[in-house]
Amino acid sequence: MKCPVCKTDSLIVKAVSEPLAMSCCEDCDGKWLSSTHYWSWLETLEGELPKKVYSDVHLEVHDTPQAKLCPECGRILIRFRVGHGMDFRLDHCNACNGVWFDKNEWEMLESRNLHDEIHKIFTTQWQNEIRADEKNRYFNEMYVQKFGEDFMKIREFKLWLDNHELKQTILAFLSDPRPFE
Ligand SMILES: [Zn+2]
Ligand SMILES: [Zn+2]
Repeated sequence: MKCPVCKTDSLIVKAVSEPLAMSCCEDCDGKWLSSTHYWSWLETLEGELPKKVYSDVHLEVHDTPQAKLCPECGRILIRFRVGHGMDFRLDHCNACNGVWFDKNEWEMLESRNLHDEIHKIFTTQWQNEIRADEKNRYFNEMYVQKFGEDFMKIREFKLWLDNHELKQTILAFLSDPRPFE
């Protein structure tokens, strides 16, 4: 099979995470995961692996932005953002559902236990969550700039207030211009 990056017949099937087999390129260290291999590997797992928020593993990812062709069916691979603090994209074939991992992309996902949720990355829900996360981060940064060191205190108060059944009354009390005695 042809490597979508090197464009040579350099893909060799190897057991990457026993019993999961992938077609690996020895030149660029990329990996091709066919949909059949992925789903039969998922069936060997007992339930979803617990997601890890942080990982100590810091590998250099070589995300290759160029357009790539599916080594299985020749269609153009579509790039999808991974999110969750990982700044790279996966190349997915919408026709045969195979996935291309550039060097260390699979390893990074594995270190966060996201490698059993690969199929979800290509869904609208996953992609929308990335956008919502980004928006939250943007607003957090904006408020940090505005409120400085008081931000954490205000944030904690807001979280408490948002869940309070008397929220509206508390807000009215807070915005009452008369000084409180
Ligand atoms: Zn290659
Ligand atoms: Zn394909």
